[in-house]
Amino acid sequence: MNSSLAIRFGTLHDQRGESKRNGVLIVEGDRVARVGGPETEVPANASVVDAACVVPGLINAHAHLEASGEAQTANFFKLTTPTQRALLAARNAREALHAGVTSLRDLGSTESIAIDVRDAIAAGTIAGPNVVAAGRAICMTGGHGRFIGREADGELDVRKAVREQLGAGADCIKFIATGGVLTQGAVPGGPGLDEAELRAGIAEAHAHGMRCAAHAIGAAGIARALGAGVDSIEHGHLVDDRGIELFLERGATLVPTLAAIRCIVAGGTEAGMPDFVIRKAREIDEHAERNLRRALSAGVRFAGGSDAGTPFNAHGDYAYELELMQSVLGMSAREVLYATTVRSAAVLDIARGTLGPGDIADLVVLAHDIESDARAYRNPVLVVKNGVMVTPS
Ligand SMILES: [Zn+2]
Repeated sequence: MNSSLAIRFGTLHDQRGESKRNGVLIVEGDRVARVGGPETEVPANASVVDAACVVPGLINAHAHLEASGEAQTANFFKLTTPTQRALLAARNAREALHAGVTSLRDLGSTESIAIDVRDAIAAGTIAGPNVVAAGRAICMTGGHGRFIGREADGELDVRKAVREQLGAGADCIKFIATGGVLTQGAVPGGPGLDEAELRAGIAEAHAHGMRCAAHAIGAAGIARALGAGVDSIEHGHLVDDRGIELFLERGATLVPTLAAIRCIVAGGTEAGMPDFVIRKAREIDEHAERNLRRALSAGVRFAGGSDAGTPFNAHGDYAYELELMQSVLGMSAREVLYATTVRSAAVLDIARGTLGPGDIADLVVLAHDIESDARAYRNPVLVVKNGVMVTPS
């Protein structure tokens, strides 16, 4: 059993009603035991921490643990062995956790690497966030993501591909509904799996209690995936009015992965990325801000996910995605925190993201309040996962 922990906070954004000022949060075992004012009694054996700001552990709803931000993603997967990638995934999981990410959804890995990393973390073998893993992404033959994907064609084969992920131990399913940036020849606005294939795969996954995410950049693919019943759209950058309508009708969530595009555009040609990657990212970047802002103001639910692992998009830099959600989408600090904790927890289907009595004690201690400093998530002072301090300062 863990000993107890007392955190004297300036501000606690517990995501349960109003934020609390100047109080004490007590952790016992893996749970928040109580939250009270400055006079709250601290257990005799408790470690005491002073904190300017406390937030729930961050949840990255879109990451690829094997990849570390290499300039040439497809080549990275071609030129490395599964063992090498598993070792890198373990390193990346630790890096994410130390940056305040206490839960993470891996949306596509080769072999069963993300699933095995999830289990190694749960068993205490290696350090990392709670991982929710999709196994291999399911894509059309020759489609985007094939270097990490299970290529499938036709309703029967897509159902079989879902069952394979289930059998391998996946928690959720990732479908590729459009082209993408990192695969040569794939057009981001172009088609991936068709609607009948998506419908069949989603029905199969839902029958087994698995949530479904769809990679979809182009408007037609977004509409197809939403029409087929997907739970979250990943990227969604070219969403149009029809897509926005369907989001609202279906209650689906959008994970905008802003950092994925911005890191490529910022890197530019000198950074060693293939020209086709930069060209496609620039085209998307021109439209993404306007489209996503429209979706947000129409009331579409947004969750936080960075696509960590894509070029120059490090697992330890989730703070950048949160900053972009403010600067690009115009979300307030509180809206960003809500999206990256409560909303992401809902997308992952896990009971996390809040810090009230009885909640799992996943939290991050920051040196500055998130409402006064947009960069407050950088270099957390302390991360606590399941009630255990993982990065003592
Ligand atoms: Zn991705």
